[in-house]
Amino acid sequence: MNQVRVRFAPSPTGYLHVGGARTALFNYLYAKHHHGVFVLRIEDTDLARSTEASTRAILDSMAYLGLDWDEGPEKGGDYGPYFQSQRLELYKEYAEKLLSMGRAYECYCTPEELDQIRQEAAAQGRDPKYDGRCRNLTDTQRREFVRQGRKPVIRFKADFEGTTLVDDLIRGQVIFDNNQLDDFVIIKSDGMPTYNFAVVIDDALMRITHVIRGEDHLSNTPKQIQIYQALGFTVPQFAHIPMILGPDRTRLSKRHGATSVGQFQEEGYLAEAMVNYLALLGWAYDDSQTIFSKTELIEKFSLSKVSKNPAVFDLAKLQWMNGVYIRELSLDELYQRTLPLFKSWGFVPQEVGSELEAKVKSVLRVLQERVKTLADLKEASCYFFQDEVRYDEKAVSKVLFKEGAAEILSSLLPELLAVKDYTQENLEPVFHKAQEQRQCKLADVIQPVRVAVTGTNVSPGIYDVLAILGRARACQRIKDALALIKSRQEGQVHDG
Ligand code: GLU
Repeated sequence: MNQVRVRFAPSPTGYLHVGGARTALFNYLYAKHHHGVFVLRIEDTDLARSTEASTRAILDSMAYLGLDWDEGPEKGGDYGPYFQSQRLELYKEYAEKLLSMGRAYECYCTPEELDQIRQEAAAQGRDPKYDGRCRNLTDTQRREFVRQGRKPVIRFKADFEGTTLVDDLIRGQVIFDNNQLDDFVIIKSDGMPTYNFAVVIDDALMRITHVIRGEDHLSNTPKQIQIYQALGFTVPQFAHIPMILGPDRTRLSKRHGATSVGQFQEEGYLAEAMVNYLALLGWAYDDSQTIFSKTELIEKFSLSKVSKNPAVFDLAKLQWMNGVYIRELSLDELYQRTLPLFKSWGFVPQEVGSELEAKVKSVLRVLQERVKTLADLKEASCYFFQDEVRYDEKAVSKVLFKEGAAEILSSLLPELLAVKDYTQENLEPVFHKAQEQRQCKLADVIQPVRVAVTGTNVSPGIYDVLAILGRARACQRIKDALALIKSRQEGQVHDG
């Protein structure tokens, strides 16, 4: 068999979205599984909407996901250029070939005329298809249009007879009636190719063996097959992968929250988790396995296990999976990946000495189990790094302003000041003693301290928290909390 060559062909008109990333991933996995070639081609012929910033964002997101392409922008390759805007001569050459073969023609219809054709068709209950009126223009007619200053488009002369079979590796045999087609435009009046034309020329010249793309392109496929056939190109294998829906089962879009890969990256999703999660959008190995490393995905991926049914994007599952991957990281690795974030939040300076490094690692050790994304660390760890505690109003009124909280804190304070070395072994007896004296639950002793030192009522184990904060900081916060309680009590007296 010929070497497998697949491609991902994004249009640079926005960010790389979940759907595009999933298409890229399936192509990547298919290529790697078959020791083939993964091509990246930028389809930037829509000049008004394509931007360099978008191309950059797409390349960056691909790099973040580790979907390295073998040929394409920044890499080169034998079949370039890999930007459609740099391939215009090729499209022109093949359009001229179709013209000279009589399989394409110039059409001089104005937008008004085309509109009229559509309206007439609609009025008669027909499909709004182009009626082919320019198929057989005489030279005189053509000269007259040119004299009027009209600029032609080039239309493909479609074959309306019979059917076109799309033998899809996922959807099976899909048969299209050719009379549904019309003489579609292949070169626009500004000389730019249309998607359906450029994609065929490129896939053929780039020797693409398998076209793996979203199911929304299935209906374009018969048009593309007719062009392959007209030009005598080998038709590649097609595999149309199912759409991705939001939880409400409408097509996944911004309405459903974050959909761009860059946004997930910013929110602290690990590339490993993203890749694993994206792979499961429409593909499954068997029902029992959900966690796959990239190596395992490459080994196990096949198009035969891609579903025909749409996949539903489930953020909760992605978050869960991200947590799994975060917990799997070694402490050093977690540190390496989060240090830039801690810097960006202003929690640590640019230069981190060994003492601070040890502190950050202790913080990570106690939070690793508790966060779903790296970005969650900001909220979860701020009280370790910032001088001011941000009190959570609810926690304060529920815990600190509760009867007895002030007494507990003031009786614990001297005991905690007396502990020299803040370790679990040294701190635990202090809390147990207070509990026994009061005959209360341990939580009744712990919670006021927790709110005092963290500002919230959820945190890692209190002994860990105190140990990381150290005696001076922890005790100062307890004093601050006592002052807060006192000021509120006085306020109430005055109010009353
Ligand atoms: N540029 C097209 C898109 O982004 C490519 C479709 C295809 O893979 O053929 O939808």
